[in-house]
Amino acid sequence: MNVEQQVFGASQAQAAPARQLGQAMRRGFLGRCPCCGEGRLFGAFVKPVEACAACGEAMHHQRADDLPAYLVILIVGHINVGLFMGFEAATTLSTWQHLAIWVPATILFALVLLQPVKGAVIGLQWALRMHGFGGHGDEIEAIDDE
Ligand SMILES: [Zn+2]
Repeated sequence: MNVEQQVFGASQAQAAPARQLGQAMRRGFLGRCPCCGEGRLFGAFVKPVEACAACGEAMHHQRADDLPAYLVILIVGHINVGLFMGFEAATTLSTWQHLAIWVPATILFALVLLQPVKGAVIGLQWALRMHGFGGHGDEIEAIDDE
């Protein structure tokens, strides 16, 4: 296999030129098209545009599914629980005061992170030519049990 090529699953993808994973994820994180970095990636909060307005790259077939939500829970959980435990140890706040701080902080942090994380996941799928980004559709492979 050529080092300059990225292959994800299907053998048709072997001839395709490599796409820069880090750049695509960074562009997606910033809400830009992972292909050109110019067009907007999202038409609504977490709904991607049908296709990039700048380069025409189709975005309708992305399948981020639950991965962005899972990653946001992972990130927000680790940061907010760590901050809560630090505050809890360093201050004498009551339980309701902690609730008043950490519940809104957790909701706000999750809402702020959801779109950038979904953009990065779409960038990852685009760079790895997953789910239609490689020019071929998703097909379920036949199980060959001899
Ligand atoms: Zn574009």
